[in-house]
Amino acid sequence: MTTYLTPALAWRRLREGNERFVAGASLHPNQDASRRHSLVEDQHPFAVIFGCSDSRLAAEIIFDLGLGDVFVVRTAGQVIDDAVLGSLEYSISQLHVPLIVILGHDSCGAVTATKGAVETGDMPAGFIRSLVERITPSVLTAMRNEETDVNDMVVEHVKQTASRLADSSRVISDAIDDGRVAVVGLSYKLDEGRADLVSGIGKL
Ligand SMILES: [Zn+2]
Repeated sequence: MTTYLTPALAWRRLREGNERFVAGASLHPNQDASRRHSLVEDQHPFAVIFGCSDSRLAAEIIFDLGLGDVFVVRTAGQVIDDAVLGSLEYSISQLHVPLIVILGHDSCGAVTATKGAVETGDMPAGFIRSLVERITPSVLTAMRNEETDVNDMVVEHVKQTASRLADSSRVISDAIDDGRVAVVGLSYKLDEGRADLVSGIGKL
């Protein structure tokens, strides 16, 4: 019989792991051979982390976690597409994770590129354009609120990503309404290593 964490306990576990990482006191849990062997048959991650692909944002490291702890989905600028939504829905309906984390970070290259495209009107070529198009609404909202710093735009983008998930996916919105799942939006500071809470949906 598997017991699942509540959204509040899952959030606490992530927070505590991040505090250890910030303090330079990481425990590196669940990374040995016995943990690996114990996970061969199945997995019960306690959260799904949907974050930016940035190499400095390695999910298991910044929350001091190991194998089998979190289901991770990352795209540049944490932009949502159908594969992202499918991955998140899978983590909720099949793996029963109680917490969705949206993870953005300061000095994000994708948000910076979008800011540049909005300011100059020059869109990037290839599929990078697709990233920029998906971040543009967040940048425009930030500008309308007179937030011109890229890190304020990152925070706005984290908030919009969280609400867009709930709007786009029936599986996610139903799980939030039932109290099975909560969504937290975090903004990560590259320098300090701290992931600050900037938005939340559902009961924690
Ligand atoms: Zn980024």
